Parts: sequence; C-alpha cells; structure tokens
Amino acid sequence: MNHDSLLKRIESKRDEVVALTQDLVRIPTTNPPGDAYEACARMLGERLAKRGFAVEYIRATGAPGDRDSHPRINVVARYEGQPGGECVHFNSHIDVVEAGSGWSSDPFGADIRDGKVYGRGTCDMKGGLASSVIACEAILEEGLPFAGALEISGTVDEESGGFAGVGYLAERGYFTKPRVHHVIIPEPLGVDRICLGHRGVWWGEVETLGRIAHGSMPFLGDSAINHMSAFIHLLETQLQPRLSQRHTAEPVEPPGARVSTLNINSLHGGQVEQLFSMDALDRPTGDLPSPVVAHSCRAVLDRRFIAEENLETVKAEIVAMLEELKHSRPGFNYGIKDIMSFVPTATPRDAPVVLATARAIARVLGREASYISSPGTYDQKHIVRTAKLDACIAYGPGILDLAHQPDEYVGIQELVDSAKIMALAALSLTRGARDA
Ligand SMILES: [Zn+2]
Repeated sequence: MNHDSLLKRIESKRDEVVALTQDLVRIPTTNPPGDAYEACARMLGERLAKRGFAVEYIRATGAPGDRDSHPRINVVARYEGQPGGECVHFNSHIDVVEAGSGWSSDPFGADIRDGKVYGRGTCDMKGGLASSVIACEAILEEGLPFAGALEISGTVDEESGGFAGVGYLAERGYFTKPRVHHVIIPEPLGVDRICLGHRGVWWGEVETLGRIAHGSMPFLGDSAINHMSAFIHLLETQLQPRLSQRHTAEPVEPPGARVSTLNINSLHGGQVEQLFSMDALDRPTGDLPSPVVAHSCRAVLDRRFIAEENLETVKAEIVAMLEELKHSRPGFNYGIKDIMSFVPTATPRDAPVVLATARAIARVLGREASYISSPGTYDQKHIVRTAKLDACIAYGPGILDLAHQPDEYVGIQELVDSAKIMALAALSLTRGARDA
C-alpha cells in the first residue's frame, strides 16, 4: 500500500496539529513545581477517548514530587486493532521548564509568526505530542485495518528525572511486552534524525569536612571550603583534561559531547546563605553572616560518561582523587554519596522501530535519515532499565538547541512532516514484519 490518501489526510490537518499544539502550550505545566498536570492529562485523555481510545489516568502516588497540591497525573490511551500484531507506543512528557526571561511574546500564548508556533514547550515537546496524536487519529479516520495496538501517553516530570512519570509506569508494566513492543518518544531531535540512545550519567555529592572555629582565628579551625577547593583544583587540572581525551564512537550530537564530561552542578560551603543588602546609607541590612570557619562543604557533580566507559570506573576515579588528597593533604576528610545513575543506552540500528522510521523519513522527506545519540538522558532510560525494552527511539519535530530557551518555537511544516512519518512508521510496525 502506498498510503497516499493517509498522507493527504495528514496534510489537510495542518491547522489541527497547530491548534492542538497551541491548546497544549496554553496549559502551563511548569516543572518544578508540576503545575496543571491534571488539566493537561485530562485534555489529552478526553480528546482520545472521543476517538475510541481506552484511557487511563495514573497518579504516581508515593513517587517523588507527588502531593495533593501538585498531583503527578499521567495519561495512557490505547486503541486496540486486530489481534496478532504489535503495539507502538508514543510517549511524550507534558511538563515544561520555567519560562524564564527574555521572551518577545507571552511564553504560554502560543502565538504564530512566520510559520512557527512560539511558546514554552512548543519544541520540548508538546509539538511532538500533537504530531503523534494527529498521526494516530489520521490512521483511524482512514479506516486502515491494522493488527496490534496504538498507544499514546502524556507523562510527567521528565525534566526532573521522570520518576513519577515514565519511571513509575515502567515499574508497573506499562512499557513491557506483550503490552508494548516499540516506543517512539517525540523529543525535538529534528524531523530527519533518529536518536538511538544517550550517554550515561552519574550524579554524586562530595562533602569535605573541616573543624568549626571563630572566623577571626581561622588557624584554630580547619576550613572545609579550602579542602574542597583543593579537590576542585584536581578535577580541573587532572580529571577534566583526561575526560576530554576520551572519545566515543557513538554519534552524539552536538559533536562537542562525543567525549566524557564533568560539570560541578552546585557548591555549598559553610553557613547557609545569608540574605542581606545595603540600605540608602550604605549600611548592611537583613540577615548578616557570623564569623565561622566552614566545617562542611558540599559539591554536586554531574558526570556524563560514554558507552566505552563503565559506571564503576567513573566513580572509582573520583574516589581515587579524594583518596590521593587524604594522603597528601593534612586534615583532608571527605564523604561521597550517589544521587542517581543511568548507564548509556543505544537501540540497535536494525531494530524494527529504527528501520520503519528511517523508511518513513525517506518516503516523506525524500532524504535519508541520520542517526544520533543524545548528550543527556531522557525517559528512554526508564524504558530500557526498568521495562527492559530496547526497541525505543526518540524522534520528533523541533530543534533541540531551542529547548529551554526564550522564544522557543516549533516549525509548522515540521509538525506536519513528522506526523506523516510517525503515521507511516506506526502502520508498518503494528502490522509486524509481514509487509514491513
Ligand atoms: Zn523534552
């Protein structure tokens, strides 16, 4: 089947995919704290229920962030085709990061200018969500018979780790065979690019310890901040240069991320921060600091590692530097703890979900797909680790660099093209290998 009629139908839904993107953007699902999740999940669920999907709302009770003022509510919608086929699941996160400043129009207004929809979440990733909805609706409206099932989910908290969203659902079997066979996550990786996976991540906290004393007699104490600065000096002069020489064979985009990296995410030393200012007479007002030598200093490290490394050595080389300081630096004492870790993932290039999406890209755009890997993790990590499903890719409209920026936008042509590509890929996958 050539599916010309399906593609024409999606072309005629240009205004509809724009309107749906706008409706989603106008619900400000800012995370943190996790505003308006229920309103967004219900808007999506009610639309799909009208089209014959079985809709479930799943609150992540007991998960991080879930509370009555900000319930973590996910929506999963399933349309059952004929028996004997496989299920394609489109997963989008409904949360967005804060708008921030620097916008030239209302970040939640979803204005249209020059063929683009502007607003927080247009690109990351309500535009991709809208494209996947239009793709599935067009298949059903065409009355094309298919074996298997189509699923669409709107999940929460991806921006803060996804533990109450995809993580929660994965633990409860929502991404496991035989329920689901292929997952497409419409993150904004570009209309002709297939993202196969991501680098690994280790987040940890290092604390250096000192001895408190009066700040006017620092020689009677031992500053944890000075100890931390010795550690950071080692990170900067020894570890970071070494990491920048470790190259991966994975096609990570942008190319600058094809090495190992380390970011010092935050640093807290000594007293809790005091908030004071100067009054009109140039006198300090507010909470003033009192003189103490810092007895504790904590740094949160964000270490991204490549497929050629492993988690154990990533942690071991940090510990080795701390041990080196313990032996060489009088009074140096430290603690280290894990915050979170995920190993690198890469879906095989010959997985059916990759092949079907690549064929659809070539058909719709008339050019070959390119394959990339992401520098940071996204919800694929939960699908691979918890649900043990490796048939997962990220594919969707939008330019990744615009994510989280002011004046974020998504191109309307990209919304339409990616809806066509998602529809062709889904049809091919639900039918299984028979006519793929
Ligand atoms: Zn995203």
